[in-house]
Amino acid sequence: MVYWDHAASTPPYDEVIQTMAEVMKKHYGNPSSIHRMGEDAAKLIKRAREVCAASLGVKPSEIVWTSGATEGNNMAIKGAAMQYAGRGKHIVTTSIEHPSVYDSCLALERQGFEVTFLPVDGKGRVDPAEVASAVRKDTILVSVMHVNNETGAVQPLEEIGRAVKEANPLTVFHIDGVQGFGKLPVRLEAWRADLYTLSAHKIRGPKGTGILYKREGISLHPLLTGGKQESGMRAGTENIPGIVATAKAMRMASEQTETFMARVGALRDELMAWIRTQPCLELNSFEEGAPHIVNMSFPGMKGEVLLHSLEEHGALVSTKSACSSKTAEPSKVLLAMGRSADAASSAVRISMGLTNTHEELQQLIRALSDAVNRLQPLRQEGMN
Ligand code: PLP
Repeated sequence: MVYWDHAASTPPYDEVIQTMAEVMKKHYGNPSSIHRMGEDAAKLIKRAREVCAASLGVKPSEIVWTSGATEGNNMAIKGAAMQYAGRGKHIVTTSIEHPSVYDSCLALERQGFEVTFLPVDGKGRVDPAEVASAVRKDTILVSVMHVNNETGAVQPLEEIGRAVKEANPLTVFHIDGVQGFGKLPVRLEAWRADLYTLSAHKIRGPKGTGILYKREGISLHPLLTGGKQESGMRAGTENIPGIVATAKAMRMASEQTETFMARVGALRDELMAWIRTQPCLELNSFEEGAPHIVNMSFPGMKGEVLLHSLEEHGALVSTKSACSSKTAEPSKVLLAMGRSADAASSAVRISMGLTNTHEELQQLIRALSDAVNRLQPLRQEGMN
């Protein structure tokens, strides 16, 4: 089996697995304990915080540990909304965000906040001018993702950040950075990011852990209360193996960004070039996109059918994002890009990593070619 689902999760680095096992075995003290083992555990967290901060070019005190990006996004969005509700109750986001952002905004709408969901163009990009006109005096938060998890569309974050701050310097700017870190350069300063979410399992770290960067001076209402861990931002005994492994994965992934862009980008280009030669396939990803995600539609055929056919040929791919792939609805992201309901129901996502090889790509193309030829006569006109 060849794994082509790196946007859903990634194979952990061997070093990550070894580090976790070692930390679990030797450093099981509670970092809040004041004896030697507690202090040792606290030191590990301090060191991991420094490594994560260095990977992002920020201060260690600006890193908050989370259980992954779903928590990070909830913490950022609900935490900022609760904290700054006195200033205003308007939030701006986009129509293509991950459910952990989108549904957090919907939950806030039910609590009396007003949310503007910005549209995207045919390539899945938000227009910074639309951000500028959406931000008002009472806009407390803008949340825009770096790289879309279904299509790989990259947002013009520098222009968006500038638009936000020029329209209202007090508006907090949050970026869901999950699919961008380690794949493209990350420039929090230039983007004017106040909050930035990451998940370790998307960068070959463990599941159930991640970070939220919170710029100095930004306050968030905590979601979890209890002990005073994370300066009261997130109560609960720290996941030390996960934290240390997150730092390791962040350092390794950030050091490999250029290699990732070159090697994985070349695989993506080759696959996209082949898809363009196939009259029955439609690309939903573009050259300007991230180096690891190729989304395509096979109109007239449910995405799941192509997915299972590829699986029979030893290739593991996705339909939509892993979080929404078990729902029968067409992809919201593709619909927002103006694609038809048929195209949005017949989409398949191939997402790559540095562990994939050129030979594997040739196998994948052969499998795709075979599946498409076999399934073509079964396609339904105007499905949906
Ligand atoms: N944001 C994006 C863009 C994602 O792709 C994902 C994972 O699919 C998440 C957030 C949620 O991450 P986690 O699995 O760490 O909760």
